[in-house]
Amino acid sequence: MSQNRKSPIAIGPTEFKKMGYQLVDAIAGFLETIHQSPVTTGASSIEIQKVLGHSTLPEKGLGAAETLSRATDVLLHHSLLNGHPKFMGYITSSPAPIGMLADFLAAAVNPNVGAQILSPVATEIEKQTVQWLAEFIGLSPGYGGILVSGGNMANFTAFLAARTAKAPENIREEGLARAPRELVIYCSKTTHTWIEKAASLFGHGTNATRWIPTDPSHKMDTQLLEARIKKDLEEGRQPFMVVGTAGDVSTGVVDNLKAISDLCKVYDLWFHIDGAYGIPAAAIPELQPLFEGITQADSIALDPHKWLYSPLEAGCTLVKNPKHLTDTYSSHPEYYNFNKDGLGPAQNYYEYGLQNSRGFRALKVWLAFQQAGRSGYVQMIREDIAMAELLFSMADKHPELEAVTQHLSITTLRYVPANRADVNASYVNTLNEALLDTLQLGGEIFLSNAIVQEKYCLRGCIVNFRTSKNDIEAIVEVIVREGRLMHEKLQPQ
Ligand SMILES: *Cc1c(COP(=O)(O)O)cnc(C)c1O
Repeated sequence: MSQNRKSPIAIGPTEFKKMGYQLVDAIAGFLETIHQSPVTTGASSIEIQKVLGHSTLPEKGLGAAETLSRATDVLLHHSLLNGHPKFMGYITSSPAPIGMLADFLAAAVNPNVGAQILSPVATEIEKQTVQWLAEFIGLSPGYGGILVSGGNMANFTAFLAARTAKAPENIREEGLARAPRELVIYCSKTTHTWIEKAASLFGHGTNATRWIPTDPSHKMDTQLLEARIKKDLEEGRQPFMVVGTAGDVSTGVVDNLKAISDLCKVYDLWFHIDGAYGIPAAAIPELQPLFEGITQADSIALDPHKWLYSPLEAGCTLVKNPKHLTDTYSSHPEYYNFNKDGLGPAQNYYEYGLQNSRGFRALKVWLAFQQAGRSGYVQMIREDIAMAELLFSMADKHPELEAVTQHLSITTLRYVPANRADVNASYVNTLNEALLDTLQLGGEIFLSNAIVQEKYCLRGCIVNFRTSKNDIEAIVEVIVREGRLMHEKLQPQ
């Protein structure tokens, strides 16, 4: 019967091979020449809509080969290319080629990694991947966790586990409304915006977050942190969690994790590290002192789709005691017959986080770890840092550039006109903001911005295994050239 069914979405083996080979050829060509392409065409959404055409949903199917080849063409020629060697905006990595192939393979097998019985191999691969992620950054083998879509989800997943662990025991049943004391959270003022979503999503309200000022080195001021915890306790609130950041999103600064973990012990608070971007650098032997204290973390967020070069999406929540995840997320509805495994209780990932049906994100992380090994990753992360240091030192030496900060693989800098006497602080900010806009649409290089002590800066974050010394030199040239042009255009005369 199924032999005879002719489904509009099926593709026969001959056509599948032909389409697949053509796609692989197109992608191989794209990767081979990516350095010669513009980082972005700078096209507006209206222009892109024209490329797509304005047709309504087709009533009759158009067939597979034609639509795929058209989509390939559109995507390869009209996208912003975060795999380009001169892309260093925000924190989006160059995707590892093995990750591209892994996603293809994962989609073909399509395991539902929500339950072990639905994904016997993928579940074991995810477990091993989580182990390797913990091992890579130097955590003890007892850590467990789950892969999620990214840093926001990794932090949310840990946030709720922290609350279950530290709030009154019946919080899961009774909710916040019946909690005897207001629950409060602490983080540095540089913490990523996920914390606002979490405070709102989980019913605390954004006012429950204490944004602790930073010290002159841009790290959370731990004296002010302790003072604020004491004040909240005196006023009858219940502190439950402190978020330390390992690689802040603007400048890459790592908080004093050891001091934060000591305070968490004294006040019995959950110690969470947001290491979405920076924590892979803990694998670099000479950087380990910077990350002292990570082995004390109750939970850590880490994004393989940032500094481990996974294609989007891959984030990970690591938890010192994985029981805190199941305490928070496990439930056993009658329609699941998921709790048997030939040898003991099954590990069902729906019980470890917010998702139910889950894709096979682990495969791309697992394969890349095997391809490059620990030493390969250490090499790539070190080289990214060296590129950021080179950008800083070149800016520092250039008379028309000001090198502002350099931490991990993030450098901030700005263009300052040669004749500095006739420019004021607010003009330099305006100039650099306009310069960034021009650079982002220009397609030669792609940077983002950071505000550092009221200076509007250009920011390069290098999580890009393709970026080399020549690219950094070219980037400096482009910034200076465009900076001069922008100054000519804007200067008050
Ligand atoms: C990127 C980032 C996030 C958010 O991660 P997504 O993967 O974009 O959801 C959170 N915290 C830090 C420190 C980050 O760098």
